[in-house]
Amino acid sequence: MSNRPARVQVTEVGTRDGFQAEPKFIPTETKVRIINDLVAAGVPRLEYSSFMSPRAVPQLADSAEVLQGVDRRSTMMGLIANAKGARRGVDAGVDELVVVISASESHNRKNVNRSVDESLDGFEEVALIAADASVPVHGAIATAFGCPFEGDVPFEQIGYIAERFEKLGFHGIGLGDTTGMATPPLVTGLCRYLRDRFPEMPVALHFHNTRGIGLCNVMAGLDEGIDKFESSIGGLGGCPFAPGATGNICTEDLVYLLHEMDIETGIDLDRLCEVARYVEDVVDHRLPGQVMKAGTRARLHALDEARTATG
Ligand code: ZN
Repeated sequence: MSNRPARVQVTEVGTRDGFQAEPKFIPTETKVRIINDLVAAGVPRLEYSSFMSPRAVPQLADSAEVLQGVDRRSTMMGLIANAKGARRGVDAGVDELVVVISASESHNRKNVNRSVDESLDGFEEVALIAADASVPVHGAIATAFGCPFEGDVPFEQIGYIAERFEKLGFHGIGLGDTTGMATPPLVTGLCRYLRDRFPEMPVALHFHNTRGIGLCNVMAGLDEGIDKFESSIGGLGGCPFAPGATGNICTEDLVYLLHEMDIETGIDLDRLCEVARYVEDVVDHRLPGQVMKAGTRARLHALDEARTATG
């Protein structure tokens, strides 16, 4: 008796969530190569960049140019926070818009300098721009499992935002654990709360591994039948506006877990690990991904090369 899905849709967010935290500018053609390598590895959806203010997020100022060079076999989504971003994203030709709001007042103010209601009101125009261009909108709720400034976020607050999203015609919601405050019981509770109130609304989970339990949270989501997860290659990531925020859960580690559980993703794990190693070279620092270093459990070692372990 399990609700676990037979197939999971993985959305790669590393070239957005991850790269925005990288201080050194990554050349446009390098971004294009990484995205195309991810598409070639079978990643079906990518939140490939954002259309925020180029001053606030200089690393992603080239989002329109990047889109020109990428393989459009996979769905390319652009993150936005307001109507201005929506217009830029639509003009650039994104397949989908991801509009983000923080569930907590203080984090939303810190992130986009607006109250939650001001952001939601502004989304009316986002919805119109998107509808005009026939571009679907996915609503992302940051700090859905807790806020670094306010602590617990009541489920009712998530319900309030989800209801507005539903009225705006958004085709799904993402629950973002921006600073790694989710725990398995919280994930179970929030997924059940939303399923009861919005049974038709597809839910995606976006975890950061800040406290080392990102994949445990995935397990809790799978048990609730969630079949959409967001992750970043190599475990890149962080949020420049959230104190102590570290990387997303790692795409290769997630895919390894899913495949070992006989859950399909359509992704080639070996190719994904190659991309992760390339990304590590590009950013020029170690990434937290583990399967790219250890290989899968199918990788055996020659007996005479191995030291004996007693632990
Ligand atoms: Zn994130």
